[in-house]
Amino acid sequence: MIRPKTEEEIALMRENGILVSRTLAEVGKMVAPGVTTLELNRVAETFIRDHGAVPSFLGYDGFPAALCISVNDVVVHGFPSDYVLREGDIVSVDCGTFYKGYNGDSAYTFPVGEVDAQTRKLLDVTKESLYRGIAAAVAGNRIGDIGHAVQTYAESFGFSVVRELEGHGIGKNMHENPGVPNYGRKGQGIRLIDGMTICIEPMINAGTRNVYLARNGWAVHTEDHAKSAHFELTVVVRKGQAELLSSFDFIENNVKF
Ligand code: MG
Ligand code: MG
Repeated sequence: MIRPKTEEEIALMRENGILVSRTLAEVGKMVAPGVTTLELNRVAETFIRDHGAVPSFLGYDGFPAALCISVNDVVVHGFPSDYVLREGDIVSVDCGTFYKGYNGDSAYTFPVGEVDAQTRKLLDVTKESLYRGIAAAVAGNRIGDIGHAVQTYAESFGFSVVRELEGHGIGKNMHENPGVPNYGRKGQGIRLIDGMTICIEPMINAGTRNVYLARNGWAVHTEDHAKSAHFELTVVVRKGQAELLSSFDFIENNVKF
Protein backbone atom coordinates (compact mmCIF):
# COMPACT_ATOMS: atom_id res chain seq x y z
CA MET A 1 0.00 0.00 0.00
CA ILE A 2 1.38 3.39 -0.98
CA ARG A 3 0.77 6.18 1.51
CA PRO A 4 -0.44 9.42 -0.05
CA LYS A 5 1.42 12.54 1.11
CA THR A 6 -0.10 15.00 3.54
CA GLU A 7 -0.65 18.58 2.39
CA GLU A 8 2.25 19.63 4.63
CA GLU A 9 4.54 17.19 2.86
CA ILE A 10 3.26 18.30 -0.53
CA ALA A 11 4.04 21.92 0.36
CA LEU A 12 7.66 20.97 1.05
CA MET A 13 7.82 18.97 -2.14
CA ARG A 14 6.47 21.98 -4.05
CA GLU A 15 9.42 23.99 -2.73
CA ASN A 16 11.72 21.30 -4.10
CA GLY A 17 9.84 21.25 -7.39
CA ILE A 18 10.26 25.00 -7.84
CA LEU A 19 13.95 24.84 -6.96
CA VAL A 20 14.65 22.00 -9.37
CA SER A 21 12.70 23.82 -12.09
CA ARG A 22 14.62 27.03 -11.50
CA THR A 23 17.90 25.12 -11.57
CA LEU A 24 17.03 23.66 -14.96
CA ALA A 25 16.22 27.17 -16.20
CA GLU A 26 19.66 28.37 -15.07
CA VAL A 27 21.24 25.49 -16.93
CA GLY A 28 19.11 26.21 -19.98
CA LYS A 29 20.45 29.75 -20.20
CA MET A 30 23.96 28.26 -20.51
CA VAL A 31 23.26 25.63 -23.16
CA ALA A 32 25.04 26.67 -26.36
CA PRO A 33 27.65 25.37 -28.77
CA GLY A 34 31.10 25.51 -27.16
CA VAL A 35 29.97 24.88 -23.58
CA THR A 36 31.10 21.75 -21.76
CA THR A 37 28.65 19.62 -19.85
CA LEU A 38 30.84 20.00 -16.74
CA GLU A 39 30.18 23.75 -16.88
CA LEU A 40 26.43 23.05 -16.84
CA ASN A 41 26.90 20.81 -13.83
CA ARG A 42 28.86 23.49 -11.98
CA VAL A 43 26.17 26.12 -12.53
CA ALA A 44 23.49 23.74 -11.24
CA GLU A 45 25.38 22.60 -8.17
CA THR A 46 26.18 26.20 -7.17
CA PHE A 47 22.58 27.31 -7.69
CA ILE A 48 21.20 24.41 -5.62
CA ARG A 49 23.63 24.96 -2.74
CA ASP A 50 23.11 28.74 -2.81
CA HIS A 51 19.45 28.01 -2.04
CA GLY A 52 20.27 25.87 0.97
CA ALA A 53 19.54 22.58 -0.74
CA VAL A 54 21.64 19.56 -1.63
CA PRO A 55 22.04 18.05 -5.12
CA SER A 56 20.50 14.65 -4.42
CA PHE A 57 22.13 12.85 -7.36
CA LEU A 58 25.65 13.56 -6.11
CA GLY A 59 26.84 10.39 -4.39
CA TYR A 60 23.58 8.51 -5.08
CA ASP A 61 24.81 4.93 -5.51
CA GLY A 62 28.17 6.58 -6.18
CA PHE A 63 26.96 8.90 -8.97
CA PRO A 64 29.74 11.51 -9.37
CA ALA A 65 27.82 14.72 -10.18
CA ALA A 66 24.88 16.99 -9.38
CA LEU A 67 23.28 16.47 -12.78
CA CYS A 68 22.80 13.57 -15.14
CA ILE A 69 23.72 15.03 -18.53
CA SER A 70 22.93 12.83 -21.50
CA VAL A 71 23.88 13.97 -25.00
CA ASN A 72 22.33 12.66 -28.25
CA ASP A 73 22.28 8.84 -28.13
CA VAL A 74 22.67 8.76 -24.35
CA VAL A 75 19.20 8.12 -22.93
CA VAL A 76 19.86 8.93 -19.26
CA HIS A 77 22.50 8.85 -16.49
CA GLY A 78 25.33 10.43 -18.50
CA PHE A 79 28.22 11.92 -16.53
CA PRO A 80 29.02 15.61 -16.96
CA SER A 81 32.37 15.75 -18.75
CA ASP A 82 34.71 17.89 -20.82
CA TYR A 83 32.58 17.11 -23.89
CA VAL A 84 31.97 20.37 -25.75
CA LEU A 85 28.37 20.81 -26.93
CA ARG A 86 27.99 21.22 -30.68
CA GLU A 87 25.36 22.84 -32.87
CA GLY A 88 22.66 20.24 -33.57
CA ASP A 89 23.21 18.19 -30.41
CA ILE A 90 20.47 17.55 -27.89
CA VAL A 91 21.29 17.47 -24.21
CA SER A 92 19.08 15.92 -21.56
CA VAL A 93 19.62 17.50 -18.16
CA ASP A 94 18.19 15.62 -15.18
CA CYS A 95 18.29 17.37 -11.81
CA GLY A 96 17.45 16.31 -8.27
CA THR A 97 17.27 18.38 -5.10
CA PHE A 98 16.98 17.46 -1.44
CA TYR A 99 15.57 20.23 0.70
CA LYS A 100 13.73 20.28 4.04
CA GLY A 101 13.68 16.50 4.11
CA TYR A 102 12.04 15.96 0.70
CA ASN A 103 13.08 15.49 -2.91
CA GLY A 104 12.56 17.22 -6.22
CA ASP A 105 13.31 15.61 -9.59
CA SER A 106 12.88 16.94 -13.13
CA ALA A 107 14.51 16.68 -16.52
CA TYR A 108 14.46 18.64 -19.75
CA THR A 109 16.08 17.98 -23.11
CA PHE A 110 17.54 21.12 -24.67
CA PRO A 111 18.44 21.61 -28.32
CA VAL A 112 21.92 23.03 -28.83
CA GLY A 113 21.58 25.81 -31.38
CA GLU A 114 19.58 24.70 -34.41
CA VAL A 115 18.60 21.05 -34.62
CA ASP A 116 17.23 19.20 -37.67
CA ALA A 117 13.48 18.81 -38.13
CA GLN A 118 13.34 15.16 -37.06
CA THR A 119 15.20 15.96 -33.85
CA ARG A 120 12.88 18.91 -33.12
CA LYS A 121 9.97 16.51 -33.62
CA LEU A 122 11.51 14.02 -31.18
CA LEU A 123 11.77 16.73 -28.53
CA ASP A 124 8.23 18.01 -29.09
CA VAL A 125 6.68 14.54 -29.11
CA THR A 126 8.55 13.40 -26.01
CA LYS A 127 7.47 16.46 -24.05
CA GLU A 128 3.86 16.13 -25.23
CA SER A 129 3.92 12.41 -24.31
CA LEU A 130 4.82 13.49 -20.78
CA TYR A 131 1.83 15.85 -20.68
CA ARG A 132 -0.40 13.05 -22.01
CA GLY A 133 0.88 10.86 -19.17
CA ILE A 134 0.19 13.59 -16.63
CA ALA A 135 -3.35 13.97 -17.97
CA ALA A 136 -3.89 10.29 -17.14
CA ALA A 137 -2.45 10.65 -13.62
CA VAL A 138 -5.76 11.25 -11.89
CA ALA A 139 -7.23 9.59 -8.83
CA GLY A 140 -9.15 6.45 -9.73
CA ASN A 141 -7.06 5.68 -12.81
CA ARG A 142 -4.37 3.03 -12.75
CA ILE A 143 -0.63 3.23 -13.31
CA GLY A 144 -1.01 1.54 -16.71
CA ASP A 145 -3.18 4.40 -17.90
CA ILE A 146 -0.18 6.71 -17.64
CA GLY A 147 2.13 4.43 -19.60
CA HIS A 148 -0.55 3.74 -22.17
CA ALA A 149 -1.02 7.46 -22.79
CA VAL A 150 2.72 8.06 -23.17
CA GLN A 151 3.30 5.04 -25.37
CA THR A 152 0.40 5.45 -27.78
CA TYR A 153 1.27 9.09 -28.37
CA ALA A 154 5.03 8.55 -28.90
CA GLU A 155 4.61 5.48 -31.08
CA SER A 156 2.05 7.21 -33.30
CA PHE A 157 4.96 9.31 -34.60
CA GLY A 158 7.17 6.27 -35.24
CA PHE A 159 9.28 6.85 -32.14
CA SER A 160 9.98 4.13 -29.57
CA VAL A 161 9.66 3.88 -25.81
CA VAL A 162 12.54 2.72 -23.61
CA ARG A 163 11.32 -0.13 -21.36
CA GLU A 164 14.30 -0.68 -19.07
CA LEU A 165 13.83 2.57 -17.13
CA GLU A 166 10.75 4.19 -15.69
CA GLY A 167 9.33 6.95 -13.53
CA HIS A 168 8.77 6.51 -9.81
CA GLY A 169 7.13 7.64 -6.64
CA ILE A 170 8.99 10.39 -4.77
CA GLY A 171 8.99 11.89 -1.29
CA LYS A 172 11.49 11.58 1.54
CA ASN A 173 13.31 9.25 -0.85
CA MET A 174 14.05 10.14 -4.44
CA HIS A 175 12.81 6.77 -5.65
CA GLU A 176 9.71 5.38 -3.96
CA ASN A 177 6.93 3.07 -5.03
CA PRO A 178 5.21 2.83 -7.42
CA GLY A 179 7.31 2.40 -10.54
CA VAL A 180 5.78 4.41 -13.38
CA PRO A 181 6.47 2.71 -16.73
CA ASN A 182 6.19 4.67 -19.97
CA TYR A 183 4.31 1.85 -21.66
CA GLY A 184 1.36 -0.19 -20.56
CA ARG A 185 -2.23 -1.12 -20.85
CA LYS A 186 -5.26 0.85 -19.79
CA GLY A 187 -6.76 -0.25 -16.51
CA GLN A 188 -3.68 -2.28 -15.47
CA GLY A 189 -1.51 -1.86 -12.40
CA ILE A 190 -2.05 -0.19 -9.06
CA ARG A 191 -4.79 2.34 -8.54
CA LEU A 192 -3.79 6.01 -8.32
CA ILE A 193 -4.96 7.84 -5.23
CA ASP A 194 -5.29 11.50 -4.30
CA GLY A 195 -2.04 12.79 -2.76
CA MET A 196 0.29 10.26 -4.36
CA THR A 197 3.45 12.03 -5.57
CA ILE A 198 5.10 10.61 -8.67
CA CYS A 199 7.68 11.47 -11.30
CA ILE A 200 6.64 10.77 -14.88
CA GLU A 201 9.63 10.67 -17.21
CA PRO A 202 9.27 9.35 -20.75
CA MET A 203 12.51 8.35 -22.48
CA ILE A 204 11.74 8.27 -26.17
CA ASN A 205 14.08 7.13 -28.94
CA ALA A 206 14.17 8.23 -32.56
CA GLY A 207 15.13 4.69 -33.63
CA THR A 208 15.06 1.34 -31.88
CA ARG A 209 13.82 1.13 -28.31
CA ASN A 210 16.76 -1.12 -27.43
CA VAL A 211 19.42 0.28 -25.14
CA TYR A 212 22.69 -0.83 -23.58
CA LEU A 213 24.67 0.15 -20.51
CA ALA A 214 28.06 1.81 -21.03
CA ARG A 215 31.14 0.25 -19.45
CA ASN A 216 31.12 2.91 -16.72
CA GLY A 217 27.99 1.16 -15.42
CA TRP A 218 25.83 4.29 -15.66
CA ALA A 219 25.23 5.85 -19.08
CA VAL A 220 22.39 4.20 -20.99
CA HIS A 221 22.83 4.45 -24.79
CA THR A 222 20.50 3.65 -27.67
CA GLU A 223 21.64 0.46 -29.35
CA ASP A 224 21.53 2.05 -32.82
CA HIS A 225 23.00 5.36 -31.58
CA ALA A 226 19.96 7.30 -32.77
CA LYS A 227 19.02 10.24 -30.57
CA SER A 228 16.93 9.89 -27.41
CA ALA A 229 14.94 12.54 -25.53
CA HIS A 230 13.86 12.66 -21.88
CA PHE A 231 11.46 14.99 -20.05
CA GLU A 232 10.40 14.61 -16.43
CA LEU A 233 8.03 16.38 -14.06
CA THR A 234 6.98 15.69 -10.48
CA VAL A 235 3.21 15.70 -9.95
CA VAL A 236 0.62 15.03 -7.28
CA VAL A 237 -2.22 12.74 -8.25
CA ARG A 238 -5.48 14.58 -7.63
CA LYS A 239 -9.14 14.03 -8.38
CA GLY A 240 -9.92 15.33 -11.86
CA GLN A 241 -6.47 16.67 -12.73
CA ALA A 242 -2.93 16.11 -11.49
CA GLU A 243 -1.15 19.05 -9.88
CA LEU A 244 2.33 19.94 -11.11
CA LEU A 245 5.01 20.29 -8.43
CA SER A 246 7.72 21.09 -10.97
CA SER A 247 7.23 23.03 -14.18
CA PHE A 248 8.94 23.91 -17.44
CA ASP A 249 7.54 27.46 -17.27
CA PHE A 250 10.79 28.72 -15.77
CA ILE A 251 12.64 27.44 -18.83
CA GLU A 252 10.14 28.25 -21.54
CA ASN A 253 8.42 31.44 -20.44
CA ASN A 254 11.47 33.02 -18.89
CA VAL A 255 9.58 33.38 -15.62
CA LYS A 256 11.15 36.11 -13.51
CA PHE A 257 11.72 35.30 -9.88
MG1 MG B 1 15.15 12.79 -12.87
MG1 MG C 1 13.20 10.59 -11.82
